[in-house]
Amino acid sequence: MFVCWSSQSPGSIPRHTGTAGANPATGILIASVASAPYTSSLAQALSTDVLERFQRYARIDTQSRRDREQSPSTPGQLELGRTLVEELSQLGLDDSRLDENGYVFATLGPQHPESTAQTAIGLIAHLDTSPDAPGAGVEPLVHSEYDGGVLELPRDGTVLDPDAMPELRAKQGHDLVTASGDTLLGADDKAGVAAIMAAIAHMSANPDMPRPPLRVAFTPDEEIGEGATLFDIERFGVRCAYTIDGSELGELQDETFSADEVILTIGGVDIHPGQATGKLVNALRLAAKVVAALPSETLAPETTAGREGFIHPYQLTGTPARARIAAIVRDFDDERLASHVELLKHTAQRALATEPRANLDIQVRRQYRNMRNQLAAVPEVTAAAEAAIRAEGIEPIRTPIRGGTDGSRLSEMGLPTPNIFTGAHEFHSVREWASLQDMAASAATIVRLAEVWSRTDK
Ligand SMILES: [Zn+2]
Repeated sequence: MFVCWSSQSPGSIPRHTGTAGANPATGILIASVASAPYTSSLAQALSTDVLERFQRYARIDTQSRRDREQSPSTPGQLELGRTLVEELSQLGLDDSRLDENGYVFATLGPQHPESTAQTAIGLIAHLDTSPDAPGAGVEPLVHSEYDGGVLELPRDGTVLDPDAMPELRAKQGHDLVTASGDTLLGADDKAGVAAIMAAIAHMSANPDMPRPPLRVAFTPDEEIGEGATLFDIERFGVRCAYTIDGSELGELQDETFSADEVILTIGGVDIHPGQATGKLVNALRLAAKVVAALPSETLAPETTAGREGFIHPYQLTGTPARARIAAIVRDFDDERLASHVELLKHTAQRALATEPRANLDIQVRRQYRNMRNQLAAVPEVTAAAEAAIRAEGIEPIRTPIRGGTDGSRLSEMGLPTPNIFTGAHEFHSVREWASLQDMAASAATIVRLAEVWSRTDK
């Protein structure tokens, strides 16, 4: 198996040497027998820039932190934000700015003076990476011309096994990017950031290309469900937007989970264990009993798929005096979501019923709702993305997202925002990987999307 442990600049990767100046109009592909082809000459022309940007952004630790006290929750997100503002300014987007809450905004202005905010389209990706796996010290590796076998990463014995990831096997011949085995890659969502930046760079350098005014937003703290919280939709001033935060090539999503978070706090009675006979009420033990009583054969993320919802306890902390269970609850249907929340409450109450000296506090926090309802009212928004994906030579894949995006809440807040693929996979884990061919296709799709909207009735 040929593996190129390249973490250097994209110019060092044989596959892409010399493609930087490729003319998209000629459609000439650089000959490479073993490599998977790009979806278009445009995608190939964008690929070097996409990879170079992606590697640069991935190295900045932008992991967000739950229970934030300010926006953004971590300073690394500001660092990436400042980098992007600088790069956008260099591309000629004069109004680029990082706002006081860590949001990056910029405009690739109207080609025609008569253009108004009613015609502008938004492009959105998130700056932060998931708190669920280590996010510091990311060292991206490029595996040129993946041979379809097991990929062994250099640290922690991390392995990408195509038997466990059918999407990986399908990428034989692609140039894959992974982390080094002990961190996230952060392709969720730096693949989206890189795709938007490369597309904007391309359109900025080709001012004659037909497109509407484009507004760019990079949001902080999406992974902790706060990406839309302080998003100034009014000021963004677009008729609709797209998050670039999906996965497999061709994915287009206008349906997400509806989501609540439930925090259970159990109060016990603590005492020196030597004097505890008949007196100690161990909150930690009771919390474990609650978790054990939750359904696991059904209604768990590991035992459900497709349109099934779940209850997912993700954190258990405490002492004998006080224990806390944090859980997320998900479903595509709002009524079923409510019934899962009730089930979680009743399970906790039943588990504690035999111990009257313990007390239980339950807080339910609304996170986001399925974007389907809002998007159904403006079918042209999803249709434009579908046309763009087809224009890039890809058959759109329409699957509901088992998760949320900034678009879930933005749609609810009045900004219709479906989600487009990035070409990255295995999000939130040390096995996260991305196909360069597919990331470049994502960037090319954004350029096509602008073309599609330039033809759409104002
Ligand atoms: Zn994401």
